[in-house]
Amino acid sequence: MYERYWQQTGDKSTILIPGWQSMSYFSDAGSLCWFLEPEFAKEIIRLHKMVGNAVTEDRYIVVGTGSTQLYQAVLYALSPPDAAEPLSVVSAAPYYSSYPLITDCLKSGLYKWAGDAQSFNKEGPYIELVTSPNNPDGHVRQSVVNKSGGILVHDLAYYWPQYSPIAAAADHDIMLFTVSKSTGHAGMRIGWALVKDEEVAKKMVKYVELNTIGVSKDSQLRAAKVLQVVTDGCKYPTSEEGSLFDFAANVMEERWKLLRAAVRQSGLFTLPEFSPGLCRFLNSSFAPRPAFAWLKCEAPIEDCEAFLRSNKILTRGGKHFGVGPQYVRISMLDRDENYDVFVQRLSTIHLRQSMQVDETVQ
Ligand code: PMP
Repeated sequence: MYERYWQQTGDKSTILIPGWQSMSYFSDAGSLCWFLEPEFAKEIIRLHKMVGNAVTEDRYIVVGTGSTQLYQAVLYALSPPDAAEPLSVVSAAPYYSSYPLITDCLKSGLYKWAGDAQSFNKEGPYIELVTSPNNPDGHVRQSVVNKSGGILVHDLAYYWPQYSPIAAAADHDIMLFTVSKSTGHAGMRIGWALVKDEEVAKKMVKYVELNTIGVSKDSQLRAAKVLQVVTDGCKYPTSEEGSLFDFAANVMEERWKLLRAAVRQSGLFTLPEFSPGLCRFLNSSFAPRPAFAWLKCEAPIEDCEAFLRSNKILTRGGKHFGVGPQYVRISMLDRDENYDVFVQRLSTIHLRQSMQVDETVQ
């Protein structure tokens, strides 16, 4: 979806890295996050200040190979090294399907996936992941476990104005961001954490050191350039489409309109409803337009993923997100041509189903 924007930025978003450059493991040997490129750190702060979606003052920045690595670094950093049993990790269902898989993939003695935060009732310390706006359902979230001893980790991958009104600057202890969903550069594998506590930040840095001895400098330099172009594009708009956020907000608005029309036409599904809110960055009021559609098949369809697959639409079923098979998640960020085919197929399912019945009868 973002390719079209980046194509029209041309040379402005291009970098050249000679063979002799960026060879060392180190980026900034004296600083807490010694593998963080200073240029990238500067652009992270500039972008957050421009958009107003997160507080950067009095925070350490830790860079990761995607926010996926930072999620693992957070688990490592927050788990006491010599606890009698693994630390419980929870998130309210429906939750991002990778959390349980990543948490348990190495069967760590440090931490363990403990499922839906809403039904979590174990005594003792725990980590609650708060994804806001949420993947898969797009809702703005707050923590739900009401106990002492919990540590919150805020995954703010989608807290950008193309998806959600920016009501205020997020001010949490541990916040995760990624270029995958902000600028569309998922393949660059770059994420960043804003961390209040020095000891937590140090342990996260230690994890990235043990895991990959730092983070690709080439990617960080490219990420710095991309963020610089985004922020400059907000400050001094040159293209007709406006800033990256204007561009992406318009695409998302249009796609959600088409999707809701298709869902109405088919009569077989429902989508979440959202109330409008004021976005202090875009200076307008709008309802969230999430990166995923959380579609529910209404009765008598029981397995929504299988039903849609039989209609040539590939989705991810609800069970991956901790709920039932009547739900599926559909990406809203594909290229225009794929998105158009998807909406077209969805809107005519009813028609196709009745044609199949007719053919069977005949
Ligand atoms: N958190 C959430 C909520 C996500 O949806 C994703 C991407 N699907 C990630 C983290 C992973 O981001 P990255 O590509 O930076 O590893």
